[in-house]
Amino acid sequence: MESSRVLENRSGENAGGLGFNFDNTYARLPDYFHARLGPVPVRQPRMVVLNRSLAESLGMNADELAGEDGAWVLSGSRIPQGAEPLAQAYAGHQFGSFTMLGDGRAILLGEHITPDGRRFDIQLKGSGQTPFSRLGDGRAALGPMLREYIISEAMHALGIPTSRSLAVVATGEPVFRETVLAGAVLTRVSASHIRVGTFEYVARRGGPEGVGALADYTLARHYPDVSASDNPGLALLHAVMERQASLVARWLGVGFIHGVMNTDNMALSGETIDYGPCAFMDAYDPATVFSSIDQSGRYAFGNQPNMAQWNLARLAETLLPILHPEQGKAIAVAEEAVKSFPDRFRRHWLAIMRAKLGLLTEEEDDLSLAQALLQCMHETRADYTLTFRDLSAEAPSDPPWLRSAAFREWHARWQARLARQAMPMAASRELMRWSNPAVIPRNHRVEEALDAAVERGDLGVMERLLDVLASPYEESPRSADYRDPAPPSDRPYRTFCGT
Ligand code: AMP
Ligand code: MG
Repeated sequence: MESSRVLENRSGENAGGLGFNFDNTYARLPDYFHARLGPVPVRQPRMVVLNRSLAESLGMNADELAGEDGAWVLSGSRIPQGAEPLAQAYAGHQFGSFTMLGDGRAILLGEHITPDGRRFDIQLKGSGQTPFSRLGDGRAALGPMLREYIISEAMHALGIPTSRSLAVVATGEPVFRETVLAGAVLTRVSASHIRVGTFEYVARRGGPEGVGALADYTLARHYPDVSASDNPGLALLHAVMERQASLVARWLGVGFIHGVMNTDNMALSGETIDYGPCAFMDAYDPATVFSSIDQSGRYAFGNQPNMAQWNLARLAETLLPILHPEQGKAIAVAEEAVKSFPDRFRRHWLAIMRAKLGLLTEEEDDLSLAQALLQCMHETRADYTLTFRDLSAEAPSDPPWLRSAAFREWHARWQARLARQAMPMAASRELMRWSNPAVIPRNHRVEEALDAAVERGDLGVMERLLDVLASPYEESPRSADYRDPAPPSDRPYRTFCGT
């Protein structure tokens, strides 16, 4: 399929007053890529939270979205003009095992084109059953949808590529889990929802021709600079590996644990998608796991680069028929590409660590300097975010971790390293202030906000949290109460999947 034809701009009509401007290219892919159907209407839609600044940046009408029309459309109860709703088909390796999946509780309304020409999927999550629902009810509960809203917006503010959240609308209908919960629909905005699992599905369903078509489509949509390559499959593999290396390095930079890095939850665009049991680490420990279902620690904090590489190997396998006509050569090409991941990752990670340590120059020993700090933090169970932020402070307070001998030794080594730079210390400190967040979505703060919203209908706690998380690198009196981790508890923090 010719990429220029796929993405030729057929600008849709402006969909009423809400400001949607659809141009749906995914719907034009062969039939087996999707199932066409609309979201299931809900009884009593009520807007719980609307992301006005995102709406405005997309060229939508925030005031109209905040009104009754917005709640009807963003709950899936009314289809906006120009939308061509569908559920996407995909497969995936979940905790290592291959499964056929697909959007079991999501509907892609279509692709919205912003006034400045950017293209975004507008997807409703929790929008009712589809042919891919298997035994699920197709619905979502309010708490987890608000959680995705909070964390994805925090990630965006931290400067990490991510899907975003436009709104959460309560459905007025119950969902039945272990208990009866309030139902909700999240509107997710993503560069696309093409997953490693989409390639796995198409490789089985559409053969080499299908994979070629999806590769061309993905290149045109996310990697136009390399789409004219002689070997599109290889160009795509390299480009995706580079973005994933950068993405996972950024996760590690802020202590983020995705929690369920199955191949169906890895986007070819390089955005973070599918927020389920994710959470941020407090005390530094690479073995940290929050997800209740990740018993082996497969997706532990420090294992995320390995798992990204594992997923990329699954992507490479699907691309084999378009990498080289001879299978042996195709495998050799794929292996060589996938093997480059650890070096790519290390390069991105080291750049992030240099910035976090205020290093404006490069020295051979920087990797070991960064690793030595992590070692100290691990031994003393120092808080990851606070430690880096303390290091950035002009007049460091007297943090308890600095009382350890190993830490003092590291600190002297770091000071000596900084002194070898010609640039003024102020430049290092400035770099550090923009590389080390003062606030992250602390687990207890997120829980407190969800509890108030879901149990008591009090949205104020979440609104204050969202407000602080929108400027994570700034220190203000407002954010002071949000900086610290939860007081020590004997109950470890646990997160849950797919609720
Ligand atoms: P997730 O863990 O959210 O990435 O979902 C994994 C798969 O399960 C995807 O195919 C989802 O669409 C599907 N799924 C999760 N929850 C439900 C639900 N309540 N009803 C139907 N399908 C679901
Ligand atoms: Mg998923």
